[in-house]
Amino acid sequence: MTGLAARLAAVDRAIADEARAAGRDPAAITRIVVTKFHPGSLVRELHALGVRDVGENRQQELAEKAPETRGLEGLRWHFIGQAQTNKAASIRSLASLVHSVDRPRLADALDRAAPDPADRLDVLIQVNLTPDSARGGVAPVGIEALAERIQTLPSLHLRGIMAVAPLDEEPGRAFARVADYSARLRTVVPGATWISAGMTADFPEAIRAGTTHLRIGSAITGPRPDRG
Ligand SMILES: *Cc1c(COP(=O)(O)O)cnc(C)c1O
Repeated sequence: MTGLAARLAAVDRAIADEARAAGRDPAAITRIVVTKFHPGSLVRELHALGVRDVGENRQQELAEKAPETRGLEGLRWHFIGQAQTNKAASIRSLASLVHSVDRPRLADALDRAAPDPADRLDVLIQVNLTPDSARGGVAPVGIEALAERIQTLPSLHLRGIMAVAPLDEEPGRAFARVADYSARLRTVVPGATWISAGMTADFPEAIRAGTTHLRIGSAITGPRPDRG
């Protein structure tokens, strides 16, 4: 087994163990491998190992890698980073799920970029768990209004919520807040049940708090080249 295969297997075993310990079905959790700063060849290796969900946090990197990995059957790209409105069309054309919708203008831009009126793009509302408004995500107080706005946009399908745990907060507490925000979102959109939370450092806590989508990078890919 290569190092990559061994790390992937170890993470998947840990996810399954944590899920069962929490009384959850491991199959209800989607594990996304975050490939940022790694080359497209790594995505091809991951695909050969059975990975179908991969994530990028920068539009430019997504746009570079997506063509290199075209033709890999069933591969789904997740966009998980801060998005500029002028990049919405590119992101929409490449991603299956956009995790990081955090303002009306971005939602509007993604909607306007729909290739045809029947096309629907899955999106999540990213909520900012820090007081720093420069971080990605809508402030918690704005969740309902943003959800109502997205509901008016015919080509977007609001699926749930996404968050990154702050470094200075115990992850279990941060994810308990996310679970509350998910409940608030569901008062507006009852079907928006997905929760994207949990990374290398905190995925066990996220599983216990009910996450449905894990975004795991370095535990699987190894250290990131350059900007680790
Ligand atoms: C990089 C990144 C991850 C993965 O981080 P790791 O700590 O390497 O698992 C998850 N979510 C977002 C938004 C990221 O940018």
